Parts: sequence; structure tokens; C-alpha cells
Amino acid sequence: MKILVINCGSSSLKYQLIDSETEKAIAVGLCERIGIDGRLVHTKAGAEKLTFEKPLPDHEAAVQAVLAALTDPAHGVIGSLSGIGAVGHRVVHGGERFTSSVMIDDEVIEAIRGCNDLAPLHNPANLIGIDACRKLMPGVPMVAVFDTAFHQTMPKKAYTYALPYEYYDKYKIRRYGFHGTSHSYVSRRAAELAGLDYGNSKIIVCHLGNGASISAVLNGKSVDTSMGLTPLEGLVMGTRSGDIDPAIIEFIAKKEGKSLGEIMNLLNKKSGVYGLSGVSSDFRDLEAAAGQGDERAKDATEVFVYRTAKYVGAYAAAMNGVDAVVFTAGLGENDKKIRARVCSYLGYLGVKIDEERNNVRGVEAVISSDASRVKVLAVPTNEELAIARDTVALVRK
Ligand code: ADP
Repeated sequence: MKILVINCGSSSLKYQLIDSETEKAIAVGLCERIGIDGRLVHTKAGAEKLTFEKPLPDHEAAVQAVLAALTDPAHGVIGSLSGIGAVGHRVVHGGERFTSSVMIDDEVIEAIRGCNDLAPLHNPANLIGIDACRKLMPGVPMVAVFDTAFHQTMPKKAYTYALPYEYYDKYKIRRYGFHGTSHSYVSRRAAELAGLDYGNSKIIVCHLGNGASISAVLNGKSVDTSMGLTPLEGLVMGTRSGDIDPAIIEFIAKKEGKSLGEIMNLLNKKSGVYGLSGVSSDFRDLEAAAGQGDERAKDATEVFVYRTAKYVGAYAAAMNGVDAVVFTAGLGENDKKIRARVCSYLGYLGVKIDEERNNVRGVEAVISSDASRVKVLAVPTNEELAIARDTVALVRK
């Protein structure tokens, strides 16, 4: 069966058409600048990337453009729309309602809408994508896969903030966590690669991309994760601060005469390694700058590495031990130096990296030495494949 995986943002729409038999993407692409002017970048597996400047006034036009590209006689990959067996939609926030992926119907759409408050930038955009697909592909089964669902197994002690309890009761303010599809896929795959029994294992997943989060996966279930009510909490990120003393917000507001909105923007978009270095949110730029003696760029990556290592320690404590530490996403998959530097803080756990094994990029690998008490792995994440798998499983049910 061919599954169309859709990840719809406010002005962009990413897609992949995945063959569930081979588990390979047969076409991938991206609509950008929706509602502005419009551009579609489409790549058929094994062929050149094609860019079309195309007016995309709204998301329905974007979905229409994607379907046209997929069925195009020259660079398409299916003869007609009947070649799409089902659609899997990435949805950012499922609140407490969604603990796993679900078939989409009117009632599910209303429930997703009910979570909009918790992710005001993302969920409405995800819903627009779902609406557009339902309109243009009536009768095709659709599945929603939530970023938060995997973390719904966290115990109360891990998801509760020490705020007046009424805010949890009234507004459901609690830790939800994100990147769940990635943490789930990567932890399971790491167990396979490390020869661990997933149902009886202690795995820490470091998802280190532009957005970064870390999770403690005990016996195949998430028991803690670093992102919270929103993706702002936890690790130092490309442009997000991660954990800070909340009193800093009032302090800056008073000193700089800034509004709450301005400070939230600063914490989300102008902080992290970008804010620290003043150079870039991209670690490749930071490494280049550090190589030329830029002290702030050097310090920024050390703050990032140190925070990550502290969380690994915290999660080893949360699970009373750890069998495997796994690195994934842009940095985790590609940057051997960052992996080695995080691990340099973990000697007390018996972590030993093998330099040669760690000398890999973008591939699955065990990178710890045989003498290491904890397995360390690099595992490329594949959220689209995980979405496609869930979609097939639900449609076949
Ligand atoms: P997003 O959260 O936007 O999906 P990614 O997972 O793509 O982010 O990660 C982006 C980060 O990964 C950037 O900081 C980038 O420097 C880093 N990265 C990507 N490719 C490489 C590479 N080949 N070598 C080192 N770092 C890389």
C-alpha cells in the first residue's frame, strides 16, 4: 500500500509517498510560502530535485499541487489518485486525549481542535492540512499521528508542575513532551541494534536537532522527557532557551520594557546557541566560527553539550540505570564531535566511546566500545516512516 505522509505547518507542507511493502519513500517534497506566493519542490526517488514556482494561495491549493506532482506523467510516481491507499497526518498536540495514533473522523477532528489552545501555532495548521486532504481525497482513510502521544505513559510525578493544582484541573497545564514519534521509533530501533529486549530495557534518546529533546524510555514506554507544556522547555536548542529561571522573564521585562509577547519571542527565536553565540543556530557555522577562535561560539556549544549530559544523568537516575544512550536528529546523527563531547561527561556510568565506530555520519551504528557498560548508538530518525507504519496498521485493522 502507498501511504501519503503529510506534515502541514502554517505556511509549509512537507510530504512523502511511502511504499509500505519496501518501507521506502518513492517521492518526497515540500510546498513553501503557502499564502504568500508559493513554491513546490518535488523529488522522485532516484531522480533530480524539481522546483516549481506555483501560486499556492491556500493549503487546499498546496495539496492539489502535491497530488498533481505525484500523478504527473513525467515526474510523478503513481498513475492516478487511487494509487494512494491512505494518508498519515502529523499532528503536534494530542493533549491527554490521544495516547496513540487514530483513524480520523469528525469526532477526532473536534478533539484535535480542542487541543488547539495547547499548540496555537501548530494544531490549527495541522487541521487545515487534514481538511484539505479530506476534501480532495474523499473516501481515502486518514490517520492522525501525534507528537505527544508516546509520552502519555509518563507517570504523574514526571508530568506534574509544582504550580497551584487548579491550573492542571482548569487548563491541563502539565508536561506533555514532543518529538514522540521520533523517540518511539529510535528507541525501538536502538533496542534491536543493541540486542536489547525492548520490553525490558532502559534507553535514553537524545533527539538533537534544531529543536532538541531527550527522553527516558523504560521497558518501551516513555517515563520522562525534557520538553514540557510547549517545546520551549529542556535542552538548549538552536534558537530556544530551554530551561531557565522563570523569574528572568519579569527581570528582562522590567529592565528592557518588553511585553510578554516580545519576551516569549526572544526565548523561542533569539536564544539558544544562536543567542549565546551571536553567530548562528546551525552547529556547522558554530564549529567553523569556533575553529577561527570565536570564544562565544565555543562556549555556546559547551553549554549545549553540558545541558544534554546533565539530562542524561537525570534520566539514568529516573530509571535507576541505563542500558543504552542513543543519538538522533540532525546533530545526533551527523556530528561525531557533539556525540563524543556529551559522552565525555558520562564516564561514571561506564560509557566508553570507540573513536573509530563513532566516525560515522547519517547511519545506524553502535559507537561504544565493547568494554562500555552502556551501549551508545547513533540512529537516524525517520518520523515519516513511523507515521506510515502507524497508518498502515490502523487501516488494516
Ligand atoms: P529540525 O529540528 O529543524 O528538524 P534537524 O534535525 O535538521 O533540525 O537538525 C539541524 C541541526 O543539525 C543543525 O544544527 C545542523 O548543524 C545539524 N546538522 C545537520 N547536518 C549536519 C552534518 N552533516 N554535520 C553536522 N551537523 C549537522
